[in-house]
Amino acid sequence: MNKQPESEIFTIPDRRCKRCGGLLTSAEAIRDGYGSCCLRKMRQEARAKEQLRNQCSLFNDEEGER
Ligand SMILES: [Zn+2]
Repeated sequence: MNKQPESEIFTIPDRRCKRCGGLLTSAEAIRDGYGSCCLRKMRQEARAKEQLRNQCSLFNDEEGER
């Protein structure tokens, strides 16, 4: 097993959030390219969009039956 020096993480140039530009502090965030808070926000937005679409289709179905 290679022991990576801790300083290596600081040599990664792109360790800023693609969404808010904030510094990424965790290895996971750097890998994803987004901070954990932004990841959560994007997941919530995606879910909200899907719910909205479902609501729309339900609404349209009801309208179509009239
Ligand atoms: Zn962010």
